[in-house]
Amino acid sequence: MRLSAYFLPTLKENPNEAQIVSHRLMLRAGMVRQTSAGIYAWLPLGFRVLKKIEQIVREEQNAAGAQELLMPTIQPAELWKESGRYDDYGKEMLRIRDRHEREMLFGPTNEEMITDIFRSAVKSYRDLPRNLYHIQWKFRDEIRPRFGVMRGREFLMKDAYSFDLDADGARRSYQKMFLAYLRTFARLGMKAIPMQADTGPIGGDLSHEFIILAETGESGVFCDKEWLDLDVLASAPGFDDDLTPFFEKYTNIYAATDEKHDPATSPLKPEELVSARGIEVGHIFYFGTKYSAPLGAVVAGPNGEQITVEMGSYGIGVSRLVGAIIEASHDDAGIIWPDEVAPFKVGLINLKTGDADCDRACDELYRDLQAAGVEVLYDDRNERAGAKFADMDLIGLPWQLTVGPRGLKNGVVEMKRRATGEREELPRDAAFSKLT
Ligand code: ATP
Ligand code: MG
Ligand code: MG
Ligand code: MG
Repeated sequence: MRLSAYFLPTLKENPNEAQIVSHRLMLRAGMVRQTSAGIYAWLPLGFRVLKKIEQIVREEQNAAGAQELLMPTIQPAELWKESGRYDDYGKEMLRIRDRHEREMLFGPTNEEMITDIFRSAVKSYRDLPRNLYHIQWKFRDEIRPRFGVMRGREFLMKDAYSFDLDADGARRSYQKMFLAYLRTFARLGMKAIPMQADTGPIGGDLSHEFIILAETGESGVFCDKEWLDLDVLASAPGFDDDLTPFFEKYTNIYAATDEKHDPATSPLKPEELVSARGIEVGHIFYFGTKYSAPLGAVVAGPNGEQITVEMGSYGIGVSRLVGAIIEASHDDAGIIWPDEVAPFKVGLINLKTGDADCDRACDELYRDLQAAGVEVLYDDRNERAGAKFADMDLIGLPWQLTVGPRGLKNGVVEMKRRATGEREELPRDAAFSKLT
């Protein structure tokens, strides 16, 4: 992409409405634009990051055996009356009437709808287990939308739903999602700690919140300091292995939100305990027959008996993650994208647009990198070098490749790693092969 043609409305000044760094940087980097309270348009740069995160989430869900489908955003109220949640959900639910005065709602979550789809199609134990998920926009009329996309009203969530014949099966489904979540967050370059959590209005008896530590987090959290330097992927089993040892190992290292933490019963000595703030980026629940019983999601068992299926649900805040990653990875100059989610891998900076040698060298690099499948944002604008560097640091691409007249005379370009600030001058071809 050529920056001269790209829709990237960056801001020089800090916007007044943004209280936390990720919100400020997302606005300044031209990633999103608020259209009303807690509702955002995703501009091209932000949209690329959102899609990258979504894809990593998808790959791990698929690897765990979950199957993607897509349910609508608008749901009929009847389903929620069947489960009893239509009244319980309260003002967070956006209620809508269609032209026939039928009661509808914009889905805040999909337990009822997936249970309805399941019950209409699955009649036998032979068709279990199943795990179905989608990545779809949700609406919750949050009382205080704030912090940009971190607490929006409209937000993108991955939500998966498991169906099993019995509690043992449901536990295994839960463990698979537990592993998929640890893998997903690690791939996103983040340390998310699974914490015992209250099950809240969704209900049930086994639940973990996945929380990343950040000063601006809304939850108070407590964990064993061992968590801080754990490499969960190093010892992770495959999805088809027995997951119980792994699950027990990681659920036995202490971690709890302030709702669950009790200093009187905490097993840790004060020097082993980390007390911090955290951002909830995912949440998994096992809730048994809470929805399958009232909605009648029943299958015939091996002896023809009727069995109410055991369910769990598993959410990841895909759009919240964009903000959460920035909270965890930035400096004074701007965002520092982890490689896996960066909107482009390389920012190519032409220090002297209009200079025949610089233009030619940059055009060739741009063409060759793209041909090699590398995502490049090419700053070909007629701007001061300082402004180009500042914009590149602000949008945080992992690599910057700078081409200027002086370097070209000596046959070199400059490569900078955004995360460390390390710079290196090297021949054009050497830079090219480092990036491909
Ligand atoms: P919170 O405690 O932050 O209000 P929640 O517990 O109500 O979140 P869940 O019902 O567990 O949320 O939904 C699953 C995931 O969806 C959350 O872990 C979070 O990452 C994301 N999420 C929930 N509410 C929002 C929101 N208003 N804006 C962005 N993401 C959200
Ligand atoms: Mg909430
Ligand atoms: Mg919560
Ligand atoms: Mg939650």
